[in-house]
Amino acid sequence: MSGEFNIFSDKDKFMEDAVRQFTICNSCRYCEGYCPVWPEVHSGNIVTRNDVLYYSNLCYDHRDCYYACPYVPGTHEFNINIPEVTRKIRRETYEELTYNVSGSPLKKTAISLALVVPVILGWFFAFNNIYSPGPVSFYKLVPKYPLIAVSSLLSVYLVSMLAVAGIRYRKLILNGLDNGNATAAVLPGVTTLLGVLAHKWFRNIHYPGGKESNIRLGFHLMIFYGFLMALLSTTLGFIYEDLLGIPSPFPFYSPVVIAGITGGSMLTVGSLLGLAARLSSRRTQGFMTVESFDFLLILEFLVVALTGLLTLLFRYTAGTEYVYLALLIHYSAIYTMYITAPFSTNILHVVVRLMSLNRFDNHNIP
Ligand code: SF4
Repeated sequence: MSGEFNIFSDKDKFMEDAVRQFTICNSCRYCEGYCPVWPEVHSGNIVTRNDVLYYSNLCYDHRDCYYACPYVPGTHEFNINIPEVTRKIRRETYEELTYNVSGSPLKKTAISLALVVPVILGWFFAFNNIYSPGPVSFYKLVPKYPLIAVSSLLSVYLVSMLAVAGIRYRKLILNGLDNGNATAAVLPGVTTLLGVLAHKWFRNIHYPGGKESNIRLGFHLMIFYGFLMALLSTTLGFIYEDLLGIPSPFPFYSPVVIAGITGGSMLTVGSLLGLAARLSSRRTQGFMTVESFDFLLILEFLVVALTGLLTLLFRYTAGTEYVYLALLIHYSAIYTMYITAPFSTNILHVVVRLMSLNRFDNHNIP
């Protein structure tokens, strides 16, 4: 996984070849208009290693350039495969931004232990509560304030990891642009935010196959807005219970449950479509490598969403022990996703691509 090559070394063979490929693209200019990368590639006369790091993290993995390129491997000695080069650099960038924590076997073991032990303890303390008598109350499984404490710690942890990654990306890569004279904005502007919310760069791309498609637009919209709806449900639950004094569990028709069902359903459908697209691309786009890093986050979203919907379904169709068992699996899945996401998935694309797009939207390309 990490350490395959050093993105910060000018002498690194992989980075030298990446600069070679983008230097050819800089002269060729055939791919102008496909995505935000190309106007940036063509904005200067010389391509540096740092430019390539920025282009790779601005790249949306459309793969249009591969299908348009007359110099891809097996057709020309130039051996140009931009989508694979940028994918590898993104993976290494995310590793570097999290201090290569999951790099060595020792670190991997430490993380696994940090991951497993709290889950085992959670099951140890909560398992007996599965058989709690009487009407369903989620706090019979895990009491309210320990639950709030753990979920708040997890949220602070994930937001901090994303913030640290953003600060490091700005310092190590964005501020190295324009011969080190760039001062990248810390927060994205309105244009960038609106472009992201509208999924501006997702339309008609060569994914998961050789024909133009909007499958990625579809599943990414579902996952993106499904996650926001799930977050809205949790926030509404807090408002109802702690501000308005309306106790949980809430009735089926309450905005809390409707937002939860909508979010969970969108996350489930989006994740299933996303996984199907990954498998299809693996079959049809042999010029790209597919690693766990590329689909683990979607898989984690699917498990979290499905166990959440199952918990709700069991509230109306099964005994309370099934509700609590599904809920305990749901809590464990959320915990696992939050803890592992910064190290083993591509979740950092949320921050790194936003900052790269902001640079692009504010870069007055000559
Ligand atoms: S990917 Fe190929 S066609 Fe596109 S700019 Fe580069 S060399 Fe030209």
